[in-house]
Amino acid sequence: MGEGAGAEAMTTKPPHIYPPEIPELAAGTLLRLRSGDWHHIHDLPCNAYCDMTVAKVHAGVTREDGGHLWVWVTGHDHPTCSWSSVEPHAPCIELMVRLDVLRRHAR
Ligand SMILES: [Zn+2]
Repeated sequence: MGEGAGAEAMTTKPPHIYPPEIPELAAGTLLRLRSGDWHHIHDLPCNAYCDMTVAKVHAGVTREDGGHLWVWVTGHDHPTCSWSSVEPHAPCIELMVRLDVLRRHAR
């Protein structure tokens, strides 16, 4: 116990070396994205609703702006890709989604 301070120094690391924790969303999770929740690499308007089912949440934050962190998410448009008549196919949507929005869906 007397050497606690030394042990603490060994295990305490500067906070900046920790990447933000990215929630793992199971494939098939429905993301209900609203204006400001998502962002596209192209100059598409981002003020529309966009529902998608998750195929994969990419590891790592891609971008930081306006105090928000953005993460790439691939998946499928909902509901058009959720119809039973749709053949299985590679993810057809790739969007940047705000990290806090992902966390909200991870609950
Ligand atoms: Zn699709």
